[in-house]
Amino acid sequence: MNNVFKLFLPAAAAALLAACSDTGDGPESGAEPAQQPVVTVYSSRKEHLIKPLFDRYSEDTGVEVRYITDAAGPLLARLQAEGETTPADMLMTVDAGNLWQASQQGALQPVESAALDASIPQHLRAADNTWVSLSVRARTIVYSTERVDPQQLSTYEELAGDQWQGRLCLRTSKKVYNQSLVATMINTLGEARTEEIVSGWVDNLATAPYPNDTTTMEAIVAGQCDVAIVNTYYFGRLKKQQPELPLALFWPNQGDRGVHINVSGAGITRHAKQPQEAIKLLEWLAGPQAQGKFAELNKEYPANPAIDPSAEVASWGEFKADDINVEAAGRLQAAAVKLMDRANYR
Ligand code: FE
Repeated sequence: MNNVFKLFLPAAAAALLAACSDTGDGPESGAEPAQQPVVTVYSSRKEHLIKPLFDRYSEDTGVEVRYITDAAGPLLARLQAEGETTPADMLMTVDAGNLWQASQQGALQPVESAALDASIPQHLRAADNTWVSLSVRARTIVYSTERVDPQQLSTYEELAGDQWQGRLCLRTSKKVYNQSLVATMINTLGEARTEEIVSGWVDNLATAPYPNDTTTMEAIVAGQCDVAIVNTYYFGRLKKQQPELPLALFWPNQGDRGVHINVSGAGITRHAKQPQEAIKLLEWLAGPQAQGKFAELNKEYPANPAIDPSAEVASWGEFKADDINVEAAGRLQAAAVKLMDRANYR
């Protein structure tokens, strides 16, 4: 889980110190041809999801990529505290809500890039060009294949109906993923209707909300409930551990707005020391050489529509995704938090 993931590699620490002392150098300085450019990334994505890509980029380009990983909140706080002295050129994190927050706090700078515009669809990019999505995950319905006929399922809204009384499990409303889901529902359905639905979910809960998507799915397997809402890659991870997992994904709202999707993404920091090199890395991550691998490492969907998902992810079936601009997740995050509180969703 990415809740309290903290990793500070000794090598990365040394690298950061080196990067700090380098800050007087201009980008791509021609005066010191012996010095390879270095790009420094602050990432809330775990090391095993980024290192293989950065290693390949370094092999291909000779540009060194240094990084530290931590949870999104601490990384953003660190960027703010460091201000102009930050060694970070790029911030990489998950959830449009987090990316929007980073942008709102002035931690990112707008980037004009025809390559990014061509690689990543507009609804997966910030309107002010401060960040772009690099992978897509669906937050969808998962059900017990032993106790639920998928014909009974249709929409997120319908999980508030009487037929699911005492049969629904949810992850805590404190997680940004659920805040983003509810935020996009507010955007499409309005506050009053969304509050009705969320209250219905709460009424249907079989148990108190769970701390994460995996424990939520394990509750279905244990027979505590029959349906839940989770991110697709957590389903993929659990399925890998337990190939006979008696769960399946269902794609809701195929007759209207489509499945709620969210993203991981990245932006160039406001005080980047190597902005041009960082943009090149970002363009590479969004392009054909990196997108397949980047998505596959976390069982996600490429954000670049020209690239197919892995065979495993594709095996979950095709679906219509909600094409609302994912920025709505950030814009309406505060409203979503208040709404879930009113609905007693803990
Ligand atoms: Fe996650």
